[in-house]
Amino acid sequence: MRNRILKVLKDYDLDEIKIGTLGSHSALNILKGAKDEGFETVCICRPKERIIYESFNVADFIIEVSDFKELLNESLQERLIEENVILIPHGSFNAYIGNLDRIRVPFFGNRELMIWETDRAKQREWLERAGLKMPRSLKPEEIKGIAIVKYHGAMGGKGYFLITGKDDFYAKFEELKREGFVKSLEDVEIQEYIVGANVYLSFFYSPMNERIELIAIDRRYEPVDGLGRIPAEIQIKSKVQPTYTVIGNFPIVLRESLLVKALESAKAVVEVSKEIAYPGIVGPFCLEAVFDDNAEMHVFEISARIVAGTNVGIPNSPYSYILWGENMYMGRRIAREIKVAIEKDALGEIVY
Ligand code: AMP
Ligand code: AMP
Repeated sequence: MRNRILKVLKDYDLDEIKIGTLGSHSALNILKGAKDEGFETVCICRPKERIIYESFNVADFIIEVSDFKELLNESLQERLIEENVILIPHGSFNAYIGNLDRIRVPFFGNRELMIWETDRAKQREWLERAGLKMPRSLKPEEIKGIAIVKYHGAMGGKGYFLITGKDDFYAKFEELKREGFVKSLEDVEIQEYIVGANVYLSFFYSPMNERIELIAIDRRYEPVDGLGRIPAEIQIKSKVQPTYTVIGNFPIVLRESLLVKALESAKAVVEVSKEIAYPGIVGPFCLEAVFDDNAEMHVFEISARIVAGTNVGIPNSPYSYILWGENMYMGRRIAREIKVAIEKDALGEIVY
């Protein structure tokens, strides 16, 4: 697959590279970053969201599609290739398209790792090989204490629920089955729930500089955060349930000594990525962690692309400022890497 993409790239006019993405998730971040680095930008968006990209004036060209899946159409791909577009993938590529291997337009980053990311078993293999501590994956019979039930793919926490035992699990699972939401146990992962502080660490691996950069840290803002405003007795009486559908994000600065674990983990993850999907991670990735009472880091997920939490780091986060001494944020960092690669005639090393 990679050779096919590199062949497409060969015909690109390096003086006319445009940066494009789907209009959702972190598109403002990506398109603004591209403009800050002097690129022209292309936003592929649905009519209902067009107002966003017009309002902020970040897209030089807007291509309207009725469904993001149209990116699988040959005619749209041909148009993007003719315009020398490099696509920056984000969460919506996995959530709304799938079949990423059918897109011939060059992507920034490693598309194969994005495919790994949609499979929880593969994620676990990757993270455990890197020596990271993960919450245990449980069979229904093994549930002790609190567990969280999740689905595959980038859904922003939608539909996750908590359980405290096997019977509790089966009651909810059967309900979901009746509703047609899941078919078999394979559609869910039951994970040990780690009580602690959520931290999403967004890194950038730069093949041009051969280094890992911590760009921003965030945590999510979810309806479950509102539960603390309701007294326990009312919660019990009303049987209110926590829900995890992401609504927004907060920036975070980590206690400094905890950066050791964060940076070491990122390094290990990058090393292993080279073994599982050559050339390994290129560009943004995010380790999604919970720090427990003993300040131990448990990583429950990895995203092998830009996450929307990096939107809190525009125009910079404390970390990107310390590193760069200028306004630097994930969208811009991606565009900077592309710019440097073009100058070095090394674009082939960072696209897939
Ligand atoms: P949307 O365009 O808001 O529907 O989001 C596109 C996809 O990205 C969905 O799968 C969302 O769940 C996910 N997503 C959007 N924003 C965030 C966020 N701030 N954190 C995590 N996931 C997100
Ligand atoms: P996700 O969509 O997987 O990033 O997670 C959605 C929400 O569930 C976030 O608030 C996470 O912090 C939380 N979460 C996911 N897995 C765990 C876990 N094993 N222990 C505690 N919280 C978790």
